[in-house]
Amino acid sequence: MMKIYICPQCGWLRMVSRRKDVECHQCGNAQMRLTNLDLEKYTSMSEQDRISYADAWLYIHNRQKD
Ligand SMILES: [Zn+2]
Repeated sequence: MMKIYICPQCGWLRMVSRRKDVECHQCGNAQMRLTNLDLEKYTSMSEQDRISYADAWLYIHNRQKD
């Protein structure tokens, strides 16, 4: 089963199957985070939808860190 991960540094989204540690190929972060997107939702999103999702995700998670 494919899952959708996001990079907490740069917001890059990636589909991953059966992996524990997921590395970002954009910025090299070794610990991508699991999103609540499922594959069906992810594949139905446009490129702009994905950018908006990543922006919102980063905003929420960076805010919680402080
Ligand atoms: Zn990254």
